Amino acid sequence: MQTPVQKNQELTVTIADLTYEGMGVAKIDGYPLFIEDALPGEEVRIHVLKVQKQYGFAKMVTLLKASPERVAPVDAALTQTGIAPLQHLAYSAQLKFKQRQIELLYHKAHLDDIPVLPTLGMADPTHYRNKAQIPVREINGVLETGFYKRRSHELVPLTDFYIQDPLIDQAVVVVRDLLRKYGVSGYDEARDHGLVRHIMVRRARATGEMMVVLITRNWAVPHLDEIVAGIQAALPQVVSVMQDLNAKRTNVIMGNEVKLLAGRDHIEDELLGHRFRISALSFYQVNPQQTAVLYQTAIDAAALTGDEVVIDAYSGIGTISIALAEHARRVEGVEIVPAAVADARLNASLNGLTNVQFTVGKAEEVMQTWQAQGMKADVLMVDPPRKGLAPEFLAAVGQLLPPKMVYISCNPATLARDLVELRSFGYTAHSTQPVDMFPQTTHIESVTVLTLGDQATE
Ligand code: SAH
Repeated sequence: MQTPVQKNQELTVTIADLTYEGMGVAKIDGYPLFIEDALPGEEVRIHVLKVQKQYGFAKMVTLLKASPERVAPVDAALTQTGIAPLQHLAYSAQLKFKQRQIELLYHKAHLDDIPVLPTLGMADPTHYRNKAQIPVREINGVLETGFYKRRSHELVPLTDFYIQDPLIDQAVVVVRDLLRKYGVSGYDEARDHGLVRHIMVRRARATGEMMVVLITRNWAVPHLDEIVAGIQAALPQVVSVMQDLNAKRTNVIMGNEVKLLAGRDHIEDELLGHRFRISALSFYQVNPQQTAVLYQTAIDAAALTGDEVVIDAYSGIGTISIALAEHARRVEGVEIVPAAVADARLNASLNGLTNVQFTVGKAEEVMQTWQAQGMKADVLMVDPPRKGLAPEFLAAVGQLLPPKMVYISCNPATLARDLVELRSFGYTAHSTQPVDMFPQTTHIESVTVLTLGDQATE
């Protein structure tokens, strides 16, 4: 194999770029080397770790010239584990990085004419997460909680997760210590053995209510009553203790069966003046401060007059539907997780709304049904998971042709792909507004407004 560098070679390079995963890139005769923790413009002494045909990996040995955008990292483990892979980049530069990533993807997809606005960031971009899913493993016979090293399943023990609500970090340590005290085993992935796989904790920012979920391989857990009592005694904000069964050999964190152990089976939070209940299996946005910004951006983009029929596809617990309902004639939500739809229906009545309905099902199938039934929608709001809109969903949009669409995306690669398809149906995307939901990480959330035809939105 002919490559311009060899494994174990040391050399000095200048970093040319930052990948979408936050790795520095240096090119040696056109051959890219990826270097963790290195920033564009920096001069770095590196050691080559791995050489493949198309690209290689190296690690930084000495930082010879630092970028003016470099800030002191909080903890190397936060980069190694991928919890905070951008912690060494100044926050203002992180916001520009995210805007630029979308621009690059639009350029590749020949969508350069869609303006990408400056990313809306947070005043304090730390300790923002309201949810944690922490792996539980045994290391040398001791039960540990922490996070995996990137591209591996090797656990790095951690107690301060930096981007999570500190009360969540505290709860994880409390549960860890109780599991240790009562000799409960952590999961052993290699042998598919042991009991507790993950600890999930959620904390509602506005109300302070907390939920702890023990994700286990069997229902039977020794000393479960004492452990639950211990959680309640140490953490007065915990109003819900649940157990989730995940008996499969899988990377999926939670199974579909949950059991109430103490308190009630949900917590409640407040957002944009509405109250929401959230169950263990329901999706809920992880950055409550920025969720308000994201939703307000989407509501403004929809520019409702009170007369419209709105579809909210991928509606979760109905947060967007409910926020839009007071500005619309009728809102129709669709969501695949039954527990989330049950939450959504209760949330609608909790907020005294009668013009919102939710359907359980795959958005791509329900949209086809609605289209076949001749439903007329004025605005289509979509908020799909990372894989973006399914081809069947897009096909139904091409038939139903709502005059306005608002696309909330957590993955700009699938967003760009879908915008190309929507353009072929006659939609014009007017702008994309990135909203930083995931500071210190490379995740990119955005809101794009589209109208049918090429008329301006204003
Ligand atoms: N709009 C909501 C949820 C967005 S997350 C909010 O802001 O909270 C995406 C949601 O899509 C999740 O609730 C997930 O369960 C749901 N989902 C995933 N695949 C789906 C599909 N094929 N059809 C309908 N919903 C789906």
